[in-house]
Amino acid sequence: MGWAIALHGGAGDISLSLPAERRLPREAALHHCLQLGVAALKAQKHPLDVVELVVRELENHPNFNAGKGSVLTSRGTVEMEACIMDGNSKKCGAVSGLTTVVNAISLARLVMDNTPHIYLGFDGAEAFAREQGVETVDSSHFITPENIERLKQAKEADRVQMDYTQPIQKDEKSESPTGNGDSQIGTVGCVAVDKNGNLATATSTGGFVNKMVGRIGDTPIIGAGTYANNLCAVSATGKGETIIRGTVARDVAALMEYKGLSLKEAAAYVVECNPRGDVGLVAVSAKGEVTMPFNTTGMFRACATEDGYSEVGIWPSVQD
Ligand code: ASP
Repeated sequence: MGWAIALHGGAGDISLSLPAERRLPREAALHHCLQLGVAALKAQKHPLDVVELVVRELENHPNFNAGKGSVLTSRGTVEMEACIMDGNSKKCGAVSGLTTVVNAISLARLVMDNTPHIYLGFDGAEAFAREQGVETVDSSHFITPENIERLKQAKEADRVQMDYTQPIQKDEKSESPTGNGDSQIGTVGCVAVDKNGNLATATSTGGFVNKMVGRIGDTPIIGAGTYANNLCAVSATGKGETIIRGTVARDVAALMEYKGLSLKEAAAYVVECNPRGDVGLVAVSAKGEVTMPFNTTGMFRACATEDGYSEVGIWPSVQD
């Protein structure tokens, strides 16, 4: 047994020819956030504090689709969502429809810690943010020129996009969210376990470009995008509607719990059983194991374990 941590910056159709100016800042952010998390685990911070810390840092990075980098709804607004969960107690908190909160993950933590509820959305969540005194800004803070351009392109193509960044053909119309396009930014998440086997997970997102106002994805839904129990902690990314239908994060835990599968077996099985191109996840077990499978072209990801293993990657690695 030992500590372990894994984080992601989104899974999707990430082109192998991703230009260096888009790849390098994200890789640097993954390295930086990994180091931050490892240092916190070494300093014996509780995994809940570690995953919150790491996800806050990822939210503050404009190149990921959460916090500052959140993509825009069909009306050009942001609606951020996040979820955090403690494995042993199964305590959890989630938020949706945030428009002014700088760090959605910390508001999710406050829902968990300071309310009798699990999930607050929209006006109620915004009012709670003010009551709790978390940092808020005018919603224009989140509306970056890059995301205005992404929305314009998605509207021109009449599509709802997962991490849309490249123009697509108008005749590629689709009614459902899709991963087509060059996925260069993404939802963020982190899972961590300490040497005593305490587990936690956190996920945060802006959702899809051109999503309907009011759309809720998998990220804040316990058991879909985010789940932890006393065996494992999971944070998923990809097409939210698929992940909700597949109860992806809970399925990994259920295979371990009911069928005795190892973390790697359970996670690989769940990812394989979901539609290709739709799902990625990072997970750690109470024993200090780590796994980061995906069935998309790539997933921005990083991990480290106490025994010295460390990896930062985007596309499948040789051993996958
Ligand atoms: N799963 C997120 C959503 O559907 C998107 C992503 O992971 O990039 O909102």
